[in-house]
Amino acid sequence: MNKLKGIGVSPGYAVGKAIVIVENEIDVNSSVFTTAEEELKLFNDAVGEYTKQTRRLIESLTKSAGKENADILEGHLVMLNDPFMLSQISDSVNGGNTAAQAVNAVCDSFYDMFSSIEDEMMKQRASDILDIKNSLLEILCGGGVAIEDVPKGSILIAKDFTPSMTSRINRENVFAIIAEVGSVTSHSAILARAIDIPAVLSVKDATKLIKNGDLLAIDGSKGTILFEPDEKTVSEYEKMRENYFAEKASLSEYFSKETVTKGGVKKAVYGNIGKPEDIENVLHNGGEGVGLFRTEFLFMDRPSLPTEEEQYEAYSTVAKSMGDREVIIRTLDIGGDKAVPYLEIPKEDNPFLGYRAIRYCLDNPEMFKTQLRAILRAAYFGNIKIMLPLITDISEVKAARALIAECEAELEKEGAHFKKNVPVGVMIETPAAVLIADELAKIAEFFSIGTNDLTGYVMAVDRGNGRVSGLYSVQRLAVLRAIEMTIKSAKKAGIPVGMCGESAADRELIPSLVKWGLDEFSVTPNSILATRKAICECE
Ligand code: PEP
Ligand code: MG
Repeated sequence: MNKLKGIGVSPGYAVGKAIVIVENEIDVNSSVFTTAEEELKLFNDAVGEYTKQTRRLIESLTKSAGKENADILEGHLVMLNDPFMLSQISDSVNGGNTAAQAVNAVCDSFYDMFSSIEDEMMKQRASDILDIKNSLLEILCGGGVAIEDVPKGSILIAKDFTPSMTSRINRENVFAIIAEVGSVTSHSAILARAIDIPAVLSVKDATKLIKNGDLLAIDGSKGTILFEPDEKTVSEYEKMRENYFAEKASLSEYFSKETVTKGGVKKAVYGNIGKPEDIENVLHNGGEGVGLFRTEFLFMDRPSLPTEEEQYEAYSTVAKSMGDREVIIRTLDIGGDKAVPYLEIPKEDNPFLGYRAIRYCLDNPEMFKTQLRAILRAAYFGNIKIMLPLITDISEVKAARALIAECEAELEKEGAHFKKNVPVGVMIETPAAVLIADELAKIAEFFSIGTNDLTGYVMAVDRGNGRVSGLYSVQRLAVLRAIEMTIKSAKKAGIPVGMCGESAADRELIPSLVKWGLDEFSVTPNSILATRKAICECE
């Protein structure tokens, strides 16, 4: 069985027949210039028609994927009405170009400008411009792609799926989409997730390697495409597809439900994120807040430290998108298994017990303060809390608080917009923190239990070592006791306590967490609804 691999951006399974969408080459020179007035009229009529078509798509997309996703197309209408763009088009027409030639040239120049900027948002703008251009040229010159009419069980393959192409997909008939470009944050990915069809993007040469009529089996999470699967594989994929939809259906009712136990106790389910773009997934899954923003991802995969402005941009984007809902930003947690090469931390014999997280930050106060200043400024726009990782001693919390106070004083002096008294919490992820939780609760405004590290440190086990990894389980008595002790200390002190390690989504553990009194469960966005369901089923 031949196989192709791309980025799995929308989960689910599908078996179906390939339809390769070949875009008709539009000939922008097919008409001749009449008069500038006539060409401008053609252009304005085309804009009118485009607006009408787009409004129709927005209406149907609002029903199938929600207003938030339909806003992508609303954004196209705003872009098209940009006075600068409109004046460029009329200048071009007045210079002797037909409406089609003017649209083609002006959109291409905007496309070149946006796509030359190394920024995900600008790249997205570039793809939006391309979408607008193609739609206008289809109206002016004819042509286009008939996506609406494909038969049931189709898997569509295209170079790219623009928002207007994606929004014309009938999900009853289209079982999956595959594109040569795109990433988790492209609009095509966002829309595919919103209408819940599996999508695999960034599959190099897909439109050449896949032929019309090929039978394909798709896994939208793993990003795999199998060619001509045998009967056994087909029935496995069909079973997985059925199970996927059954599970989805049973969970969807929890999207708008409150997280309340049978006994009427209110809990909260939050999402864990690594980048501002992940917020979309938290909201789409009904997350009530962000319980862990792993800021180290802003520091990785780049040649140097992010500036205060870059960090401010990322944190404030998240704060604004979440409105009143809590956003817990964890300060830099590098070291251990999270390498940041440009920091040149010397190689250590025991990196998990070494120079990492809060230890590194307190030892590099200028770098740490850059992050804290960015967080305090972003807090102005929302409900941000600060969380300190790998705490083992009271002195670390005091030192971090002193730096926060310094940042506040500096910002005050500069007259900057920022928030004072942002709540500061502590991650409980070391045995030391568990043992002094009663003392920590006096200087922390909340706890969040990090079971990923806590399990390893409590059990003294390296989970990467196959000989001992069996001991790495949250169900070991020592780990369970550590969790229970932490929750009790928080309750006694009257501060909220959450969990942001993977175990917060562990269905076997959730009843105990609820019994002990855990307030907030922060999980990967795709586990939010299942976690809410498990909590609602607890006594
Ligand atoms: C944890 O240790 O449980 C945790 C949430 O932090 P990370 O997985 O980022 O170390
Ligand atoms: Mg950790």
